[in-house]
Amino acid sequence: MIRIMMEYNLEEKLNEKLNSTALKAVLFDMDGVLFDSMKNHAEAWAKAMEQHGLSMTRKEVYMNEGRTGEGTIDIFTQRDWGRDATEQEILAIYKTKSDIFNTLPTVLPMQGAAEVLDNVRKRGLMRILVTGSGQVSLLERLENAYPGHFKEELMVTAFDVKHGKPYPEPYLMGLEKAGRALGLTTPLPASQAVVVENAPLGIQAAKAAGIFCIAVNTGPLEDQILYDAGADIVLPGMAELAEKLK
Ligand code: CA
Repeated sequence: MIRIMMEYNLEEKLNEKLNSTALKAVLFDMDGVLFDSMKNHAEAWAKAMEQHGLSMTRKEVYMNEGRTGEGTIDIFTQRDWGRDATEQEILAIYKTKSDIFNTLPTVLPMQGAAEVLDNVRKRGLMRILVTGSGQVSLLERLENAYPGHFKEELMVTAFDVKHGKPYPEPYLMGLEKAGRALGLTTPLPASQAVVVENAPLGIQAAKAAGIFCIAVNTGPLEDQILYDAGADIVLPGMAELAEKLK
């Protein structure tokens, strides 16, 4: 009963937020939100670490999603070897991870994401990408999967920030870019945006930036982990979010 009441309140809060006339922008994370890519990342990380004599479970990949490659590797060399990785080790492990990733099946757009983006556009809201990824062909990939939805000046990638998620910097920069695009002299106020995230560290980053955070639980973690990270509401996936945006 208490749980049902709680969920009802969360849904009400979400509807209030989405229907607020003050809302101007939706900030989207990429992996696990717009693309169904986390299974591949989990497999590539787990296998690469194993090849280099380190242990990392798939669940641990999801728990660390959003951290830089270097930061991730250091956590596991610290745990297994009691020290940070050397620069050479980082390069070697990251290369193995990328090589394995490239042998895996092609990553597909996340189910329901195109509908979410279409509904967001219909509501006249800006669409902003905030990712820790540093792939050079990002815009092309987004344009292929979601034509006309993302613009280069409304993207925050690994190249833009010094302190990635869970720090608030990527999302603060997203608000800054939104403000600039709207012709403001200040960043878009956090209260006029929402974030769509799937990972604990990404949720922490969004909340540290003061933004309402919708979590879509597209991976294997328990909902509670996403709530503990600070999510304002956890939905099962993008299709359910599309439904709420109708
Ligand atoms: Ca993600």
